[in-house]
Amino acid sequence: MDVRHLDPGADADVLIAGAGPAGCAAAIVCAAAGLRTVLAERAPGPAARPGEALHPGAETLLARLLPDGFADAVRARHDGITVGWGAPPRFQPFGRDANGPWYGFQADRQRLDALLLERARHAGADVRHGCRVLEPAVRTGAVTGVRLSGAATALRTRTVIDATGRARRLTRSLGLTGPPRSPRLLVRYGYAAGVCPRRDAAPAIVADGSGWTPTARVAPGRYQWMRLDFVPDQTRRLRAGPPDEFAGLRPEGGQGGGCQLAAEPEGGRAGLVRGGRRGGIAGPGVLARRAAGPAVRLDGGLAGRGGPGPGPGGGGGSSLVRVP
Ligand SMILES: Cc1cc2nc3c(=O)[nH]c(=O)nc-3n(C[C@H](O)[C@H](O)[C@H](O)COP(=O)(O)OP(=O)(O)OC[C@H]3O[C@@H](n4cnc5c(N)ncnc54)[C@H](O)[C@@H]3O)c2cc1C
Repeated sequence: MDVRHLDPGADADVLIAGAGPAGCAAAIVCAAAGLRTVLAERAPGPAARPGEALHPGAETLLARLLPDGFADAVRARHDGITVGWGAPPRFQPFGRDANGPWYGFQADRQRLDALLLERARHAGADVRHGCRVLEPAVRTGAVTGVRLSGAATALRTRTVIDATGRARRLTRSLGLTGPPRSPRLLVRYGYAAGVCPRRDAAPAIVADGSGWTPTARVAPGRYQWMRLDFVPDQTRRLRAGPPDEFAGLRPEGGQGGGCQLAAEPEGGRAGLVRGGRRGGIAGPGVLARRAAGPAVRLDGGLAGRGGPGPGPGGGGGSSLVRVP
């Protein structure tokens, strides 16, 4: 990468909004290339999140981002997934090569985020927690900086990466996202402790006419369930509770052990109904209205995917880059 400062008069070469996996990965790469990198995250630090089931392919990427390893964030591994999609559930192996079967990961997202942040700092990024990105500063159609909470003046930078996930903070400010492309989604999740040999063997994802139920062993003796419902009726609230296969387990958090999270349209806030924690939501899938415009480019999650789950997939941030 060309490490010339994009604008020597600027406060930073690149401002990255959001320190999830996408923002941290961008910060690691930019800082390691010698760019003056600011990573702004509104939260005070990495938080617990549901998931995080990762496909074996994630290993190659994580090995590049975290050369010292990430075993510390891995709680369980599996060589395939049970899928029930328009047919009775059936185990589907991830595959194998001459070295043996490929294994996916059940990662502790809080720990994984902490490792990625540590790496970004080590690479030289200026990581700012409790720092909310408010809006881009725009002059004559081009992004010239970003306004941050607690700062009187905008941080001057000619390159901005929007990695705020479903918040799409900067891309929404610039009117670059389009209409929802999936029904409104509502995700509930919870944890249960005990023994469930079926889920020790492999995680599962089962689809029916109204949504998906992913279940997984997320650590020895600890299981997670999720229920994602397509919610045509915005006012509808769905019953929270673990699926039947976890009937013999001890739910965490009491009263069915479930959090219920209401998904609102683009940029909406998660409304916790019960369970004692706030968490992520899946809003409707959204496509970018324009993939590129004067001096800006979009990629990543703005391609529009709405579905979470412990199955393979997930990941994907959104980015808005001013092309110098
Ligand atoms: C219930 C659920 C279960 C999931 N399960 C899985 C799974 O098992 N496997 C999988 O691969 N994927 C899963 N996903 C998807 C996965 O969590 C996302 O794809 C992934 O987190 C996206 O990473 P990201 O870095 O783009 O965004 P995020 O992880 O959402 O990070 C965005 C960051 O931006 C910050 N931010 C937002 N607004 C601002 C602002 N204005 N200023 C500063 N910071 C801001 C947020 O605080 C956050 O830290 C799941 C999602 C949900 C909702």
